[in-house]
Amino acid sequence: MITPNWTHHAMRLSAGTLFAVLLGWWVGKPVLLPAIFLLAYLAWQFYNSIRLYRWLQSPDTAPPESMGMWSEIFDGIAALQKQNIKRNLQYQSVIDDFEGMADAFPDATLVIDSHDTIRWFNDSAVQLLGLKVPADQGQAVTNLLREPAFAEWLALQGRIHTKLEVPCPADDNITLQISAVRFRKNQRLLILRDITDVQNLERMRRDLVANVSHELRTPLTVLLGYLEMLKAQPDKPDPKAIKRMLKQARQMHALLEDLLELSRLQESDSRDGTGEVDVYMLLAQLEEQANDIDQGTHDLRFDIQTGLNLRGVKADLSSAFQNLITNAIRYTPAQGSIRVGWQESNAGLIFSVKDSGVGIPHRDIPRITERFYRVGSDRNRRTGGTGLGLAIVKHVLHSHDAKLEISSVLGEGSEFRCIFPLERRANA
Ligand code: ADP
Repeated sequence: MITPNWTHHAMRLSAGTLFAVLLGWWVGKPVLLPAIFLLAYLAWQFYNSIRLYRWLQSPDTAPPESMGMWSEIFDGIAALQKQNIKRNLQYQSVIDDFEGMADAFPDATLVIDSHDTIRWFNDSAVQLLGLKVPADQGQAVTNLLREPAFAEWLALQGRIHTKLEVPCPADDNITLQISAVRFRKNQRLLILRDITDVQNLERMRRDLVANVSHELRTPLTVLLGYLEMLKAQPDKPDPKAIKRMLKQARQMHALLEDLLELSRLQESDSRDGTGEVDVYMLLAQLEEQANDIDQGTHDLRFDIQTGLNLRGVKADLSSAFQNLITNAIRYTPAQGSIRVGWQESNAGLIFSVKDSGVGIPHRDIPRITERFYRVGSDRNRRTGGTGLGLAIVKHVLHSHDAKLEISSVLGEGSEFRCIFPLERRANA
């Protein structure tokens, strides 16, 4: 930046004034001549100030020609302006790059404010959702995505971080998966991904597993029936072999039942069959069944809060709770204790199963809800598990906005806690 040489200009002004004083004194006008000089100097300053003002009104034009101090001021401002233009061009190029990147992003991306009003969206949002520029900027996002589930989900964001799947408003054959990210103070970024292909593949895989399981169930039932019949006969040919065959056939049957249950859960919409579930009644039934299976082997106790009902699908919840209770029975040595609880707390509505069983190694805990994941294959072979129980639990909890917490100490026991959000509480 050009900096005027102020000392030089001050000296020139002082020299001029001194010369006017001396000249005035010599010609006998010691006041008039310096006064005329200073007035002329003031007029020159004023004139240049006006030129500066006019130039600043249209800064794109070349700077006014001047001399002395003003020439340096004009040149200094012109240099500053050049710098600003260069910097603005750089900023603009960064913004253009960002917009280009955002438009090339295959997922529809929208920025919404605290009133759910659309502030910005990319090209993919235009194509995927049929948004119009600029008409849809400033519209409420719920006016464009009219699914009731979407409005509910949006209201819950911040407390629950799940993804939502909805049909595309522009084309029913497309399924969108929506996720939300909070940014800045009150804004949210909505990312809508077309998951139709992934869903189709997933459906094909599920259909295959369900169909094979279904087809295998009938012949296996027949086999099981004959084996049971053979077992009951007093003069059976090889009792040991029949016993082993029966054990394997029952294991296979349990596996098919779990596979069919899992595919039923995946197939059904989480909203189908949702109603008020009387958890007290449900757990009373499960307690009876658990006692039948356990036959007094363990110290099995239920501590259930009454009048604490849940909004959900009864059959699915029953299946999840039953799996956790059966696991506790299966993985706790005889005489061990099992506590089943259902309570309300600040964290939510909690269903818990605590046992004093074999426990789970720390490194296996994050993986035990995966299908067919086993903590040591030996353990499962002995207990007759299918490896699908916790996958079923996880699926049911997910569709009920609940989470599963597992804590365990190897050799001391485990606790499984299903935490449902308080919003899931139904009026008892
Ligand atoms: P399975 O039907 O074979 O029991 P799950 O999916 O229910 O399969 O369980 C997965 C794994 O988690 C099993 O290998 C089992 O070892 C372990 N597990 C589940 N529940 C318990 C428990 N209460 N105590 C110890 N281990 C458990």
